[in-house]
Amino acid sequence: MKIEIDKNGFYGKFGGAYIPEMLYPNIEELRDSYLGIIEDEDFQKKFYDLLKDYVGRPTPLYFAARLSEKYKAKIYLKREDLCHTGAHKVNNTIGQILLAQKLGKKRIIAETGAGQHGVATATVCALMGMECTVYMGEVDMERQKPNVERMKLLGATVVPATSGSKTLKDATNEAMRQWINNPVDTHYIIGSVVGPHPYPEMVAKFQSVISAEIKKQLQEKEGRENPDIVIACVGGGSNAAGAFYHYYNTPGVRLVAAEAAGLGVSSGKSAATTALGKLGILHGSRTLLMQTEDGQVVEPHSISAGLDYPGIGPVHAHLFDVGRGEFVAVEDKDAMKAGVELSKLEGIIPAIESAHALHALNQIEYKPDDVIVINLSGRGDKDLETYIKWGEY
Ligand SMILES: *Cc1c(COP(=O)(O)O)cnc(C)c1O
Repeated sequence: MKIEIDKNGFYGKFGGAYIPEMLYPNIEELRDSYLGIIEDEDFQKKFYDLLKDYVGRPTPLYFAARLSEKYKAKIYLKREDLCHTGAHKVNNTIGQILLAQKLGKKRIIAETGAGQHGVATATVCALMGMECTVYMGEVDMERQKPNVERMKLLGATVVPATSGSKTLKDATNEAMRQWINNPVDTHYIIGSVVGPHPYPEMVAKFQSVISAEIKKQLQEKEGRENPDIVIACVGGGSNAAGAFYHYYNTPGVRLVAAEAAGLGVSSGKSAATTALGKLGILHGSRTLLMQTEDGQVVEPHSISAGLDYPGIGPVHAHLFDVGRGEFVAVEDKDAMKAGVELSKLEGIIPAIESAHALHALNQIEYKPDDVIVINLSGRGDKDLETYIKWGEY
């Protein structure tokens, strides 16, 4: 079965655009124009020039010799941690700000949970001299002060969302409301492969530079474009979608997605969406999400802020549904161990999100000398506090 999006924005049973009628004009404008814009030669040149000179792409595909020795496989790390701003998120925000300019928009809005997407958005707004407003739950602002200050330093306005649980979903509601009220001059930058069509596919296309580079780099290093296994962590799923994209329809390549099991899949404190989730509507698309019997979204938990999301993007729900993706749930404590292990073995302190992907090596079967690519989505500088609190290193 071919993994691809249909004309209504569905991957199998998942996706679509479930939005209030007031948002139709905004979404229709995007849906009808995004492919034409991003496939245009001038756009592509601007996009790749910025990825090269501003973000620092291509990121290396690094053969991790000591990690490989330990796990008895040929392990490569795709170094998204070396991107400007410290993670893959900027690949998408660069793409979307160029798109916003082509659409003649003057203002950017975004929502953020942990603040990583807010920082990536504030960064590209500073780069382009565009006005930037980031909505963030009041509770999250308190928890993630350094990122709030980063956004302000970059010139963005951070607006607290004060309704509900004062976290990510409340910030999302606020951003949607603002977009409805300012449809003509404002573009809404969504930070993962979530949201109403066309966002999931659009964001995946911007992130697909990751697997395009892996193919080329693996050809140079191994004499073949295809690894045996690609592993990535999944919050909403954008770094995983980017790392999987050019392999979706190459059956010989196993796609492994690592979700956050928090304190344990059945602990009531996790973000293991495929293990626990049911079909529902989240953030404008039909997907798997963690919900109560009566359909209330369950507050997720993960030690890594970036994986602390109650759903997954529709493409991942589909990969899970048709068995194309292998999903593993990695607990907080195991991710921390894997993060410490990589630090000591390779001199690379990973983001705790990425450490979930690393630990998946212990949770899957593979053959000796399999070529495995792990997408190292971000660097661990932002997580130093969490490593210190963890203490076991
Ligand atoms: C935000 C983030 C993630 C999770 O987001 P995806 O959309 O699932 O990629 C993973 N790793 C890092 C470093 C992040 O900042």
